Amino acid sequence: MAGWGARVRTANYHRKMTSLDLARELDATDPLAEYNGRFVPADEQSLLAYLDGNSLGRPLKASAERLQEFVTGQWATRLIRGWTDEWMQWPHLIGDAIGSAALGAAPGQVIVGDSTTVMLYKLARAAIAARPGRSEIVIDTDNFPTDRYIVEGIADELSMTIRWIETDQSTGISTEQVEAAVGPATALALFSHVAYRSGFIADMQAITASVHVAGGLVLWDLSHSVGSVPVLLDACDVDFAVGCTYKYLNGGPGAPAFAYVRERLQDGVSQPIWGWLGRRDSFEMAHGYEPADGIRRFISGTPPIISMIPVRAGIELVAEAGIDRIREKSVALTEFALKVVDGWAPELGVTIGSPRDSTVRGGHVTICRSDFRELTPALWDEGVIPDFRAPDGIRLGLSPLSTTFVELHRGLAAIEAAAARR
Ligand SMILES: *Cc1c(COP(=O)(O)O)cnc(C)c1O
Repeated sequence: MAGWGARVRTANYHRKMTSLDLARELDATDPLAEYNGRFVPADEQSLLAYLDGNSLGRPLKASAERLQEFVTGQWATRLIRGWTDEWMQWPHLIGDAIGSAALGAAPGQVIVGDSTTVMLYKLARAAIAARPGRSEIVIDTDNFPTDRYIVEGIADELSMTIRWIETDQSTGISTEQVEAAVGPATALALFSHVAYRSGFIADMQAITASVHVAGGLVLWDLSHSVGSVPVLLDACDVDFAVGCTYKYLNGGPGAPAFAYVRERLQDGVSQPIWGWLGRRDSFEMAHGYEPADGIRRFISGTPPIISMIPVRAGIELVAEAGIDRIREKSVALTEFALKVVDGWAPELGVTIGSPRDSTVRGGHVTICRSDFRELTPALWDEGVIPDFRAPDGIRLGLSPLSTTFVELHRGLAAIEAAAARR
């Protein structure tokens, strides 16, 4: 799997060829090159390089077609019958598709619905309720804001204590730090698999094991890994996980989240938002809430069917391309970015805020300079779209199925030029 990335790293373009030549060659030999044509093309005049596919993935042509077909087809003709035809099963079907293509999860453990934030709340509460008498939640200071705020809210609500792990922003959370933070009071530990800022990949298996040794449960946020870095939830013995579908899965703005709950835990846990569609025999409209069996109980209200259409197209694309091949290209893209930035004049003062070791680096690379906050709007005006992450990072989100090496090269050249101008 390291093959392609290593080829980029060792390519000797200084003597034999320019970085643009190398980008062209990498595109020409990219086994996933055809997937770029599956996306709705952007206007090349106004968009030179889209380097933010890890915040909002590009739309697939299949999504445009299927959304149109759905409105005039199933919705218009089947109307309310659509629910019993198949819509009620979509959260399960699409959940299982995500589980099998991207998460290493056997069927019956993944469901789609709500936002990532709401799912985080539901799963965190379910985990805490399953560990009565334990009063602590472990989380790291550099976790994504919504994860931190959800934990703060729950700690406030349930009078629990938060045990903060101080993370080094340019690396990430280590197993040793987790081992030192967990103990007999730990109910839940919540971490991101791929750090949203640095792209650092946490050791899911070892960290999960150390939380389990302390008797706690673990909840992983997979928003920056799903569809980009292979995840092995079952093999890592994970308890709970959530993630976004609008990043590398190209589900569209506000697309619903997915939740994973390990099969052995499902019937023993209770999530806090008791809605009619998570109840056993929903349509009996009976008195009193009784949770449905299995993963179904993690649904609260009516599933967001229209929003799942692009998610379905997105996960089908990942399944077709194969997550291991996606990862291989992802590594090659991030290696290429690092190689080009390493070739910049030292006077530019740009540093790397992501791991250099590709085995612990996800699909994005952060580069740093103190004035990148001021520089980013000018890049956007030029049609070069990365994003800025405080305090000083430009984050290059490289989406393997839609980003080309030449596009990345264009973006990097614009950043280099803008940095040199200032
Ligand atoms: C993008 C992201 C979210 C987003 O949550 P929403 O509820 O969809 O806004 C949550 N967690 C992480 C780690 C993310 O990267």
